[in-house]
Amino acid sequence: GLAVTLLVGRMAWGSVFVGHLALSLYQGMAPGLALLVALGNLAVVILLTSLLQRLKFRCQMDTPRDYLLLALGVTLVSQPVARLLALATMRAAMHADITLETVIEVFKFMWLDESVCQILVATCILSGFDVLRRHRPVSFWLTLLLATSLLVLVLAQLLLVPEYQWLHPLHVLSVVYLLVMMVAALFELFGAAVANIIVLGSTQWATHKGLGPFYQLIDSGADLTNMNTFLVGIILSSCLVGALLRERSDREAMLKQLAHHDSLTGLYNRRYFFELAERELLKARREATQLTLFWMDLDHFKAINDKHGHAAGDRALAFFAGVLQRQCRRTDLAARMGGEEFAVLTWGSVDVQALAEKVRNTLQRELPQHREVVPFTVSIGVTTFRPEDQRVEDMMHRADIALYQAKAAGRDRVVYAGG
Ligand code: GH3
Ligand code: MG
Ligand code: MG
Repeated sequence: GLAVTLLVGRMAWGSVFVGHLALSLYQGMAPGLALLVALGNLAVVILLTSLLQRLKFRCQMDTPRDYLLLALGVTLVSQPVARLLALATMRAAMHADITLETVIEVFKFMWLDESVCQILVATCILSGFDVLRRHRPVSFWLTLLLATSLLVLVLAQLLLVPEYQWLHPLHVLSVVYLLVMMVAALFELFGAAVANIIVLGSTQWATHKGLGPFYQLIDSGADLTNMNTFLVGIILSSCLVGALLRERSDREAMLKQLAHHDSLTGLYNRRYFFELAERELLKARREATQLTLFWMDLDHFKAINDKHGHAAGDRALAFFAGVLQRQCRRTDLAARMGGEEFAVLTWGSVDVQALAEKVRNTLQRELPQHREVVPFTVSIGVTTFRPEDQRVEDMMHRADIALYQAKAAGRDRVVYAGG
């Protein structure tokens, strides 16, 4: 409920309430009490979600800070408040005597365990939702399946095979700890949460069944509490490592985007265009494929800026970039070369003149449908690769001359310099 409320906001309140009510009734609680419990839990969810929102918690959990906020919010706010509400309900509705022992009981045995479960499940839902939204490739899911299967296999061995049952639980946890860290390293926060849910779930299950090394600790409450604390350590540290790696990979992706792309149009920038174009040129020479360079310059752009303002100019630039992207194949290189100049490098046999005309015509066809963009035209110089071209600059020089001719001939046209 907490995770869904964080994701979709107050729309989830109804389902949190109804879900809790149904669960309590299913467990045989009296209707009045079930209603009270559902209301109490809804209040806790609303309290924590609004607190987290106020602290600018981000549902993608792409920084360790977000993960820590969630963990601290659950352990220090929602769980203690929920425990207090439970005590009040017991006293009011069941006329139970609330002694110091009851308070200790309610806090001691449920607080840590339930906090950990909530943190894990919420982390799994929130980061899992983000993983889905980012459209991870099939290889991601296959590797996740492989890594978690390995984890389950090792755990099953340690928990179920009789010869290993008298292993000290710490030994089991040290082995499992390494595996959890491995999954966290591979799949960041989502992987860490999934791995921890598997570890926590299977050890709890085995212990309840009287199996595995953890079962021996049941008789000794102190040992069990120590072990639980150790488990919490594993969970917190592995999820934090997962969140840190997540932040790092996000930052790397952002830096790469900044280094390779133009921020206004999202096209490649000049530097990256040259880098990729040099490679294409070598390929064209080796494989004797046709390589075509389009060099484009928007007409009278200074006048557009002067008349309609710089913001209108920027909108026109972004609009033109959109037209280019829609006309290009995914393998073409489309770049903003600076100011109001653009370039496209395309390979394979294409009708060069027709493609350039298509860009120009599409622009004129789409412009009237977008009243927020001031009308403008484009001049295009085109050239194709010649065997004597040593560098991209050689092609660019020819395209630039063709563009100059297009401008001189009255703009809004295409001039082909030949190949
Ligand atoms: P021509 O038809 O001969 O190309 O005329 P022009 O006015 O387009 O040519 P010129 O190169 O003199 O002007 C380019 C203008 O583009 C100058 C500058 O104000 C504008 N410009 C360059 N970069 C940007 C930008 O990022 N945003 C906006 N709004 N304008 C830009
Ligand atoms: Mg210019
Ligand atoms: Mg211009």
